[in-house]
Amino acid sequence: MYDILIIGGGLAGLVNAIELSKAGLHVALIEKQTYPFHRVCGEYISNETLPYLQALGFDPFAQGAVALSEFRVSAPSGRSLRLPLDLGGFGLSRYTMDAALSELAQKAGAHLYTGQKVLRVASLSEGFAAYTDQAPSPFQARVLIGAYGKRSHLDKDLQSDYFYKRSPYVGVKYHIRTSAHPEAQIALHNFKQGYCGISRIEAGKYCLCYLTTREQLRQYGNIAAMEQAVLLQNPYLRHIWATSEFLYAKPLVINEVGFLPKSRVSQGVLMCGDTTGMIAPLCGNGMAMAIHGAKVLSSLVKDFFAGTLSRAALEQEYQKAWQKRFAQRLWAGRNIQHWFGHPRLTEALVRSAQWMPRVAKVLMRQTHGPVF
Ligand SMILES: Cc1cc2nc3c(=O)[nH]c(=O)nc-3n(C[C@H](O)[C@H](O)[C@H](O)COP(=O)(O)OP(=O)(O)OC[C@H]3O[C@@H](n4cnc5c(N)ncnc54)[C@H](O)[C@@H]3O)c2cc1C
Repeated sequence: MYDILIIGGGLAGLVNAIELSKAGLHVALIEKQTYPFHRVCGEYISNETLPYLQALGFDPFAQGAVALSEFRVSAPSGRSLRLPLDLGGFGLSRYTMDAALSELAQKAGAHLYTGQKVLRVASLSEGFAAYTDQAPSPFQARVLIGAYGKRSHLDKDLQSDYFYKRSPYVGVKYHIRTSAHPEAQIALHNFKQGYCGISRIEAGKYCLCYLTTREQLRQYGNIAAMEQAVLLQNPYLRHIWATSEFLYAKPLVINEVGFLPKSRVSQGVLMCGDTTGMIAPLCGNGMAMAIHGAKVLSSLVKDFFAGTLSRAALEQEYQKAWQKRFAQRLWAGRNIQHWFGHPRLTEALVRSAQWMPRVAKVLMRQTHGPVF
């Protein structure tokens, strides 16, 4: 019987594991993959996380992270706008970051079970049980944290409203070497039915990651054909594709990238990170929200184990705290995303922002939070 069981070892799961183990609690985390591994993610992390990560014992710059201070957005035609980033951020691959955080969690005393998938969860009179595809008997814990990301078969039981709604988006990612992109810049290059982020990460590499629709991919038959016919209409992307070295044998692809709101607590399971709902990737804030969400949740779980918060109060306080910090940002991300992917709308947006850069800055601020 563990005090806390965490399903999923992305940023939300790992930060909870570090915090709760450091507090002397008995923590198990189950992750279906084995570190280190690549994920579809733009790998731009907002500086709002920096003081907290450093306090946790993780210095991104010691892992080779690169500071990013400028933003460029381009319409499919190539019309573009450059702005300094208010708070800025850094680039670091999830391959490096998640593996380093998993080591930190283990050092803090968490038990990590990797290469093992949770198949289903059940309530017990005093806690929860989780059944995996490997362990002969279920894991048991008093508190269960769901940090299994944007979508999982576990949602079928825990978030069925969400599970049965299909999402039209797919995400594609590469690591590349290029001289076609400024080092300190994060760019968002638009194309018909999608947008592509590019920014530098460690070891002289760049992360290139885009979101588009399943329908468009189906129309062109495969990724390479779609890239040639659609993405490369944008002159910035054409130049990057023509002059860069693509480092993966084939791109990483994920389906069903959805942005509808999800539950924060379901059947007593405390959800964290993307499991509570994912912010549109163009905001570049999903990682910051996962880390911040884990800070908030782990602090309340510590109070519960210290006996200063009842189980009911833990759930209520968490939902309130989540709503206050993240609801507005998710809503803003969903609405801003409507402007992207339509060539004429994006053109109009970039054109207006060229005349009124202050408006662009206000919009950008809606998609981020304060330093925490
Ligand atoms: C195309 C795209 C680009 C993005 N770009 C950025 C960006 O530049 N900046 C940014 O801040 N955010 C970005 N994001 C968002 C960001 O990736 C997520 O918000 C962030 O990864 C959320 O972390 P998490 O810990 O909640 O989930 P994840 O990182 O998804 O972790 C969930 C973990 O749970 C594991 N898991 C799932 N099911 C099970 C199971 N049944 N049993 C055991 N383990 C399980 C998974 O293997 C995974 O490791 C992007 C997202 C997409 C789709």
